[in-house]
Amino acid sequence: MKLLDYPLQTINVSCRKCDRRGRYAKAKLIERYGADIALPDLRLLIANGCSRIKVHQLGTDPCGVMYPDLLDLLDASKDVKGSGDA
Ligand SMILES: [Zn+2]
Repeated sequence: MKLLDYPLQTINVSCRKCDRRGRYAKAKLIERYGADIALPDLRLLIANGCSRIKVHQLGTDPCGVMYPDLLDLLDASKDVKGSGDA
């Protein structure tokens, strides 16, 4: 998924490893990184300040930064598909 395809106007990120959290306006991120950037790549750019990212380069425990809202939305859409089967 690309940044352009993110379904919400506000993008929340959080890291399970270091309790890092951030909230970004989608429009601002597009301005800064471009609409075509892949979300997994963007994730790493956003987490740039996380000490785990540097650790990751040494091949040990990487940063766990991710998009909690996106996971919720994917779960929700699964539920809708399941119940609309009849
Ligand atoms: Zn982290």
